[in-house]
Amino acid sequence: MSLRLYNTLTRTKEEFVPLDPANVRMYVCGPTVYDFAHIGNARPVIVFDLLFRLLRQVYGDAHVTYVRNITDVDDKINARALRDFPNLPLNDAIRNVTEKTANQFFADVEKLGCLQPTIQPRATDNIPQMIAMIEMLVSRRHAYQAAGEVLFSVDSMPDYGHLSQRNLADQQAGARIAVDAHKRNPADFVLWKLSSDDEPGWVSPWGCGRPGWHIECSAMSNRYLGEVFDIHGGGLDLIFPHHENEIAQTRCAFGTAVMANIWMHNGFLQVEGQKMSKSLGNFFTINELMTTRNFGSNMWHGKVLRLAMMMTHYRQPIDWTVDRLVEARIVLKDWIEMATGFDHNGAPPAELLEALTDDLNFSAAISYLHALYRTGRPNRDSHSATTMAAALRFLGLWSGESALDVYSYGYEVQDTGKIDALITARLDARKAKNWAESDRIRDELASMGIAIKDNKDGTTSWEVKR
Ligand code: AMP
Ligand code: ZN
Repeated sequence: MSLRLYNTLTRTKEEFVPLDPANVRMYVCGPTVYDFAHIGNARPVIVFDLLFRLLRQVYGDAHVTYVRNITDVDDKINARALRDFPNLPLNDAIRNVTEKTANQFFADVEKLGCLQPTIQPRATDNIPQMIAMIEMLVSRRHAYQAAGEVLFSVDSMPDYGHLSQRNLADQQAGARIAVDAHKRNPADFVLWKLSSDDEPGWVSPWGCGRPGWHIECSAMSNRYLGEVFDIHGGGLDLIFPHHENEIAQTRCAFGTAVMANIWMHNGFLQVEGQKMSKSLGNFFTINELMTTRNFGSNMWHGKVLRLAMMMTHYRQPIDWTVDRLVEARIVLKDWIEMATGFDHNGAPPAELLEALTDDLNFSAAISYLHALYRTGRPNRDSHSATTMAAALRFLGLWSGESALDVYSYGYEVQDTGKIDALITARLDARKAKNWAESDRIRDELASMGIAIKDNKDGTTSWEVKR
């Protein structure tokens, strides 16, 4: 099965050829753990989870290594630790913040139907690897020490800027970067910086200090995936400077032509047409969407959030709206209803794989499921239902939940037993041609906020009215 992926390095869709089909290697930049992850952060997690699932399907579960790091050294973390735990020793305060936030992240993304990556390394467990890499860069004259920092020298790398298609000369002509006197080139970036007493620090050849953000990912990807690996991913905003600088560090440390063969970037998520920001009041954490009624006066099941994310191609911008979630909720309920009783963990359907192997064509995958529902549902065909079950399982959209639980998740109207009983009573009334009673029951359901629909096959389905 051939897989085609869009590569930011070449700006084209390319045939994916792993370096070693027995060990396909992917690295994705993970969260900086200082606060709850927001719904924008969920996008790369879901997108690359789908790619992970697809790679496992194509190359075999045991032949794919997926590394997603936890960034637990960052100045934002220090600030949060000092604010939230002013009376604790700094290291304890930091550990409190990062442990709590990382655990929350793991719990959130599990509810979104994501598998655990093969390895989830933490930056703080990889400091010696970072120091060793910086030493290599210094000894190869790609890095220098100045004013308490070790800096990467961008002029030492002739094709610096290739990924983001930035030209150093153009950048300098623009002269928008503040000129730090100690830098040889204003675009030089920090590999290591000295720490004061109220900052976390590790002993190094350059004094007690801490790493820059970019070197963390270079060191962790190298440790777990090697000098050159297959796929590196993250959100669009990471192309520059983060990924550009990861490439510079890794390639210059090892003298390689590439760091990863394919660079993939998901598009950005905005909320109801606007950039998500706390000041605009449209900032939503994953957890908040699942546990409060702050968005559209509803709580949303994690699998509904997942489907909503898949309703747009991963490279396009997403407009995260209440309407999108309402639609995802109705669609997922129908699909799960169809699959219920036919649960199946077998191979996903070929048509679905065909869609996904074309650069994760989510729209084609969703269209396929709509068509499967349209053709298979009316005649309750068990083959289609089994196919639907396998497809939903494969996509992480279903792990055996009842359709009603997903649909009515968080609703006040939780008495599904009563709804079912009323629907049965109404069907009995209709069989007895007692139309008055049938209408009365319809009205009673309506007063509970439930709309019903009589299907051609004699069954009645229901949904919660908005
Ligand atoms: P951060 O913790 O800000 O480094 O972000 C973690 C991941 O989420 C990175 O891959 C970012 O590119 C991604 N990300 C952050 N904000 C958004 C957004 N609004 N839409 C899509 N991806 C995002
Ligand atoms: Zn990274």
